[in-house]
Amino acid sequence: MFREFVTNEGVKIPTDSVSESRGWLDRRSFLMCALASGAAIGAGGAAAAASAEPVSSSSGAQGQDDSRFVVEAKFYEKLANRKIKCKLCPRACTVGDKERGYCGVRENRGGTYYTLVHSRVCAAHVDPVEKKPLFHYLPGTNAFSVATAGCNVNCKFCQNWEISQSRPEQIPADYAPPQRVAALAKQYKCPTIAYTYSEPVIFSEYLMDTADAGHKAGIRSIVVSNGYIQENALKQAYGKMDAVKIDLKAFTEKYYRDVVTGQLKPVLETLVTLRKMGKWTEIVYLVLPTLNDNDAEFRGLAKWIKANLGPDVPLHFTQFHPEYLLKNLPITPVPTLERAKAIADAEGLHYVYIGNVPGHPAQNTYCPQCHKLLVERAGFTANRVLIRKDGNCPYCKHPIPGIWHA
Ligand code: SF4
Repeated sequence: MFREFVTNEGVKIPTDSVSESRGWLDRRSFLMCALASGAAIGAGGAAAAASAEPVSSSSGAQGQDDSRFVVEAKFYEKLANRKIKCKLCPRACTVGDKERGYCGVRENRGGTYYTLVHSRVCAAHVDPVEKKPLFHYLPGTNAFSVATAGCNVNCKFCQNWEISQSRPEQIPADYAPPQRVAALAKQYKCPTIAYTYSEPVIFSEYLMDTADAGHKAGIRSIVVSNGYIQENALKQAYGKMDAVKIDLKAFTEKYYRDVVTGQLKPVLETLVTLRKMGKWTEIVYLVLPTLNDNDAEFRGLAKWIKANLGPDVPLHFTQFHPEYLLKNLPITPVPTLERAKAIADAEGLHYVYIGNVPGHPAQNTYCPQCHKLLVERAGFTANRVLIRKDGNCPYCKHPIPGIWHA
């Protein structure tokens, strides 16, 4: 079965990114998760009828037929002595025979490199697209969201560390081939499939095949990613995406080294490449007290975005909640988030949001020209979308960037 996280606070559903801080969903949402899970992998039900694939199920890591999840990797180079060099993410792991790369989901078997997580889904859920968060992409719709185990970084604040930091065989997962996911998205009336919760970079082959299956069924694809990916893989894998959310976790190499176990520069390069590719992209910056919350960093970030991506890229400053290895830090104070937004606004960014603070007015979209309210949100729900079909403000006709209507 897909993984559920049970604690003394109830049932925890994976959050949409390692940077998003609200993993707790209401009972109804959990039931949707359970329904989706059962439909995806259980013995029958409407989803089974909807699927072109035979139903199969497995109940956990033990005794799984792993061979069906093993597919040759797309991005690697063969070296001498049965070694390989992975060309998927900037770690560029050199991996010997019978060894795995840093992410733990790719294995060298006799000089051929394999992903171990194709169709190996450990979490699935029907989520509002606002939860990703994508605010300028089909507001008010749901995304059929899937994840496999694994990640290519190790953020100390990760909300989903139980899946992101696990090897595939350490957690229960089920066989959800691309056509099945596309059929489920359709069944649950989701116009999009979202690759999320852990780090989709490390399941790129599955993401690519699922995006193809989705597109054939009229379902779009969106990815929630750390952007830590090599350029060629980015172009090929995320080239199949219809929208992208990138977690820009800080604006210093020090933070990326000490807190993320990664690098900032490749993520910035990813953002520039996505811009050149014309992909709809939104950026989330999770604000951690004392670690990435100073004015100079906010200002530098906003200046860089404006200069390199333009003023219309949505930027979400989100509230941190203590988790994983950083339980010693407090929740981000709302005034800190408001200060970050004020700085980014003053630098000329047009769409700066505050996230994880339900009811805050900075969750809404306003026209940058006439300042009227255009999208009213409550939590992860878009209550009112006033933007016209042509993407313009209904009051002053100013074009509002994004994909507003299917
Ligand atoms: S995707 Fe995994 S194996 Fe490949 S370079 Fe990155 S961490 Fe290493």
